[in-house]
Formats: sequence, structure tokens, C-alpha cells
Amino acid sequence: MPQTPRTGARDECGVFAVYARGEDIAKLCFYGLYALQHRGQESAGIAVSDGASILVSKDMGLVSQVFNEPRLATMQGHLGIGHVRYSTTGASTWDNAQPAFKVTPAGRGLALAHNGNLVNTAAVARDLGPGGQRCSTDSELLATLLAGHTADVCVEDALVGVCRAVRGAFSLVVMDEQTVYGARDPHGVRPLVVGRLPRGGYVLASETSALDIVGAHLVRDVEPGELVTVDERGLRSRRFAQATPSGCLFEYVYVARPDHRFAETTVYAARRRMGAMLAAEAPVDADLVIPVPDSGTAAAGGYAEASGIPYAEGLVKNRYVGRTFISPSPSLRELGIRLKLNPLRDVLEGRRLVVVDDSIVRGSTSRQLVAMLRSSGAAEVHLRITSPPVRNPCFYGIDMATRAELLAAGLTIGQIRDFVGADSLAYLSLDALVATTRRPKSTLCRACFDGQYPIPVPGEQAAAGKDVLVRPRAGSTDRPPAGVQA
Ligand code: AMP
Repeated sequence: MPQTPRTGARDECGVFAVYARGEDIAKLCFYGLYALQHRGQESAGIAVSDGASILVSKDMGLVSQVFNEPRLATMQGHLGIGHVRYSTTGASTWDNAQPAFKVTPAGRGLALAHNGNLVNTAAVARDLGPGGQRCSTDSELLATLLAGHTADVCVEDALVGVCRAVRGAFSLVVMDEQTVYGARDPHGVRPLVVGRLPRGGYVLASETSALDIVGAHLVRDVEPGELVTVDERGLRSRRFAQATPSGCLFEYVYVARPDHRFAETTVYAARRRMGAMLAAEAPVDADLVIPVPDSGTAAAGGYAEASGIPYAEGLVKNRYVGRTFISPSPSLRELGIRLKLNPLRDVLEGRRLVVVDDSIVRGSTSRQLVAMLRSSGAAEVHLRITSPPVRNPCFYGIDMATRAELLAAGLTIGQIRDFVGADSLAYLSLDALVATTRRPKSTLCRACFDGQYPIPVPGEQAAAGKDVLVRPRAGSTDRPPAGVQA
């Protein structure tokens, strides 16, 4: 098997964990991951334990492709964790699917699932020696590091040590045979929430929609810098670092589901406000407001309501085509967009359109979209984007693009408008976007928009304008190693 290039691939993922007696744990994980599918479509995995041993099952593909009734039925236990993974080019191997599984020096099992991206992986891998150098993702590195730490202390203490040793964004769920753990980096870049099941037991998940789907109620966020432990005795909390919150603003713009509830607002309400504020900041004389579904839908409603311009659906989305970024090459990505959105000529013909989308990254979506709308008879196309120009790469787990690929990195707004072919183009201002979250600006990571990175990024990564992680594992295969069910 050839080695898989690591370029551009990061872990932008969804995590889930549950500890509950008398429940079908594997199915709860399955449904939780199903609700988080938008956070990762490349691979899915579940680990369960009956108190004596951990069984990991993972594979490439969507949750519904990886798991079926017979496979879930083999996974019995009262605790489990799950993961969905998302990446672009490369590293699309079975090895990189999660949960990562390691055996401790004492012979105990550990499974770990990670959402986010570490920034000091190269240094951590070097410190770990040959074992670290062999890791192909930062998640595997975390698991290796954790297993090593357990030589001297219990898993909980080892996890505290790991959380203190690594830098970057991590929302983690971890389990050994008897206990589930959840941890969030001191900046709380990626979300992680705690829920309670009606008959007892706890759930951890990237988004509240995963709690809703398994019938759990939201208890609270896992705090930045907090470690929670769930076992027979219930849930305990421990702080491993002082909180310095820098929640990802792009979660509000694009990543999270509209029904995710941040402490201050739902994503849906924030997106409605984005649209309304965009209407105030960038009004235009037009006949119809149309969303680019689904990420622009709530905001288009907000724009229409605030502007008084009627709302219509001018693009029909094929719901069975995944996020277009999943395509590995530019040409396939373009094909993806056409497969995904089909214009409604009778709605669009002769109309002056306000088209609301959440972001422009490389610009290929907007460019094709505008051309498609014009060829479907639109008289004018006014593009309104519910975030500021994306000018800086993300090092904390959003798989956007390298700096060189970001359209706005080298162009003025006028040049971008010309590139995408719109009659007018306006972006929401950063301050307005921040206001929609109901959080103080200082508690949000805005790096992709303003270049202020809350967690220092090592020079080699910053210079490359992208992630330079641990190198691909030698002899990486798309087959599971012996002893792990695939
Ligand atoms: P682009 O064609 O590169 O400009 O992509 C912009 C489109 O991709 C927007 O319509 C977004 O809805 C979507 N998008 C933005 N960020 C991401 C991301 N990190 N992963 C996948 N899709 C994204």
C-alpha cells in the first residue's frame, strides 16, 4: 500500500460518549453520531465496554454505511464512545478512523476520539520517540501519549497530564474498560456538552442535537480547561487548566447544526441575526432573497424579514450529496456543487436576486453558483455572505484551505466580486458577526477572519500556511490491524 500524503487533512470531527446501565449503548452511540454526521463524513467508529474489555468497530464511510443492526448487536456494554471524521485530500485511510485504541503498559485498553487540531504535535511526537513518530494523526498521538502516561498514574491523572502537555484545540472523549472521560482544551475552541439520560446515565457530545436525538437533556457545556469523569459513582469534574475561552466563530457561521444550543444562543437564532444585520449593513434593491441551502437558509430568512424583500427557494438541494469539500480534487469539487444544487428557473427568471450564503473559502462554489443562476434567467445576482472574508487558515480543526488557496487572502472585495461574477458582493462585518453570538469578542476565536490566533501557532506551520503534522505512518493500510473489528 502506498503512503497517503498528510497534506490538507485534519480532524474536523464529531465526538460522542455515553455511560448508562440498562441502555443499548452501541445504538445510542450510533444515533448520536448520526446527529453529528455533518461534522464528519469520511469515517465513523464506536468503542464499547462491558466493564471487562473494549471492543472497537470503525470503518470508512457514513455512520449508516459503517454500522448495521448485526454489527451493533455484537457491541454489548454500559459505556461507549463514538466518532465521525472529516477530511479533504489524503489520509483517508482506515488507520486514521477513530476511536484510536491503545493498550497501556499495564495491559488495559484505552479508546480515544478527538475533535479539533493540536498545534504542537511535531514537538510531542519528537518527545515520544519512535512511537510518536509512527503516529499518523494527532488523535493517535494523544492516545499514545495517554497510554504512556498511565505507566505511573491512573488514567484520570494521566489524562490531566496529557491535556497539560498538548497545545491547540481538543474536545476529547476517552474511555477505559470502566470509565468515560471528556476534556476540553483551555480555550474551548470546539464545543462539547454534557447531557443526562432520563433513566440515569450521562452523555457527552459535540453538539446538543446529539443529546436531543438520544432523548438526553442538556446539563451544561464541558468548560474550557475541564476534565469530566463518568463512572459508577456519577459525574465528577476536575480542572486541569484555567479557562481562557476562544470559542470558534466559524462554528456559528457554518460548522454546527442550526439546532445546536450554545450557552448564549442557538445557532439558528444567531444565523437569523446574521441575515438581519447583513440586510442593515448591505441593503440592495432586489425582488427575491434566496438562500444557498442549507448553510445560508436561516440567514436568508433573517435578511428577508429585515429587508422586507420576499423570501423564496431558488435552489433545490439534493440532500444525499455530502458537503462539497469532501471531494478530493478541484474538478470533482465543482462537479459536486452541480450535483448538489439545482436552480428553479421559474422562480429565478427575470428576478433581481439577493443570494445569501455563509462563507466564501476558495470561491469555486460562489463562482459556479452565480453562473448557474444567470444561466437560469436571473436578472441580477447580489451575493451576501454572513461572515467576513476568510483570509487566514485555521490551525484548530476546521479544514478550510491553505493560505494560498483562500480566495480573499490576496484579493480586494471588488476583485472577489469580479471573480465570482456577481453584480454586487457584501460580507457581514466582524463586529456584527460577533454580536450575533451574544458573546464578548474576547471569548471568540476569529483567527480565520482577523488573523489573531489565540493559541500560538509554531513557525513551521504558520509559514506553510497550513497544518504540518506528524508524518504519515509507514506502511499505512486501509485494513484494520488484527484484533480490531472492522
Ligand atoms: P468555496 O467554494 O471554497 O468558496 O466554499 C464555500 C462553500 O463551502 C460555502 O458555501 C460553505 O457553505 C462551504 N464551506 C465553508 N467552509 C467549509 C468547510 N470547512 N468545510 C466544508 N465546506 C465549507
